[in-house]
Amino acid sequence: MPARITNERATTWPDAHQNARPGTPQKHRVVIVGGGFGGLYAAKSLRRADVDLTVIDRRNFHLFQPLLYQVATGGLSPADISSPLRAVLKRQKNTRVLLGEVVDIDPSGNKVILTDGTVPYDSLIIATGASHDYFGNAEWEERAPGLKTVEDAIEIRKRIFLAFEAAEREPDPVRKSAWLTFVVVGGGPTGVEMAGAIGEIAHHTLRHDFRSIDPSLARIILVEGVDRILTGYAPSLSHKAKRSLERLGVEVRLGQFVTSIDASGVTTAANDDEVFIPSRTVVWGAGVKASPLSDVLTERTGVETDRAGRILVAPDLSIPSYPNIFVIGDLASFSHQTGQPLPGVAPVAMSQGRYAARLIVKRLKGRELPPYRYFDKGTMATIGRAAAVAQYRSIKLSGWPAWLIWLFVHLMYLVEFDNRLLVLTQWAWNYITRNRGARLITGKTGTLVSATNQPADEAQSEAEATR
Ligand SMILES: Cc1cc2nc3c(=O)[nH]c(=O)nc-3n(C[C@H](O)[C@H](O)[C@H](O)COP(=O)(O)OP(=O)(O)OC[C@H]3O[C@@H](n4cnc5c(N)ncnc54)[C@H](O)[C@@H]3O)c2cc1C
Repeated sequence: MPARITNERATTWPDAHQNARPGTPQKHRVVIVGGGFGGLYAAKSLRRADVDLTVIDRRNFHLFQPLLYQVATGGLSPADISSPLRAVLKRQKNTRVLLGEVVDIDPSGNKVILTDGTVPYDSLIIATGASHDYFGNAEWEERAPGLKTVEDAIEIRKRIFLAFEAAEREPDPVRKSAWLTFVVVGGGPTGVEMAGAIGEIAHHTLRHDFRSIDPSLARIILVEGVDRILTGYAPSLSHKAKRSLERLGVEVRLGQFVTSIDASGVTTAANDDEVFIPSRTVVWGAGVKASPLSDVLTERTGVETDRAGRILVAPDLSIPSYPNIFVIGDLASFSHQTGQPLPGVAPVAMSQGRYAARLIVKRLKGRELPPYRYFDKGTMATIGRAAAVAQYRSIKLSGWPAWLIWLFVHLMYLVEFDNRLLVLTQWAWNYITRNRGARLITGKTGTLVSATNQPADEAQSEAEATR
């Protein structure tokens, strides 16, 4: 349940206008919640607008999520794909950045409510994104982390590289094999990228690094519930992506649903047949649901949501009955263009951010904009070192050409110039050497190996506790 508005905190964050010279008229106050793709591109589009703009995020950095899998697999460091929001927006004199978590909104009083204060607005853009969905099995999260934040990526990186370390020291062949079995759940872009990268690690990066195990014998299993991976792409590209994964040693199991995940492994089912996969390392890439602010918005404004909890926005991205509140990006469900919701991808969030910003400026001039429309620039996903699939309307590419386009596009969109240069250098080096220099295991490692006389369950839970 959302926090109650009546429980208002003592602090009201100073109005941005209070920094203005005395006597100057109050400007239109725009508040953006979330400095991800949607929020940041809305903010950038308002750089020349005659407004007081406040960007609020619970993190002090913008995260380039499409490259998170590189952090999770030791290819890049977190800082390579993050840019401090203050640095990105420092030249925008009409903009201030606040570090804070929004927990509620008061649409009749035009205020957003943080854990430690309130911020007034005239126009509000909400872009708080999405989180993982375990389809009612929240207990799986501990065993099978999803990839959404820097912390998730560091945790997954730790689990992957720790598994090889544990296998190196494990005398029992059955347990060794479970350490060397990696299960990725979900055949969408994130699952495919993760499985491909783990395949690279096992077959190339770590090939000569161990003495008692052969990392290339590791099993990487990608489990997908429907009959093909990358369902957002043409079937021919799904097929090519599957073949590319198989070349990297990934077993792709289609039509299999996960029914249980515990310390010892993953159980999948197809029809009535259940299969148990002993595995110590599971990555979740199967489900996405709207961020918790969706519940708050529903409660406060009566707006409807789709099954994933995304807000059903009006054709101008506002909330019905609240023309000054816009919801964009992964939190929004916009189906006015094709009858189907637009996909939860960065270009949609960016273009919605730009649109909401332009609409606010137009309205200040007493004008309107036509309803929002998304111009599809195509989609792409990468599979390992030099393979990808890309689709733009009827044009379909795979292999090297698709990978080069993928590389170019991702570098273009990395927010800060420093990051682009760093990432390009890092990538070039990794590409030539097949190295992954950021494969750090951070935090406590504890006891990796079970005592030979210890019951398997006990040994497993002990090893689990070390993660
Ligand atoms: C692993 C992964 C890989 C992806 N790969 C691709 C890809 O290859 N191509 C592609 O186009 N898209 C990709 N996406 C999807 C893309 O990243 C999202 O569609 C995009 O980030 C959505 O933008 P957004 O602004 O809606 O949300 P986000 O970018 O998620 O930003 C949300 C922001 O809101 C902040 N926030 C959340 N709640 C609060 C709160 N209560 N108070 C204050 N701040 C808050 C968060 O800290 C965050 O900064 C990927 C996503 C993931 C997770």
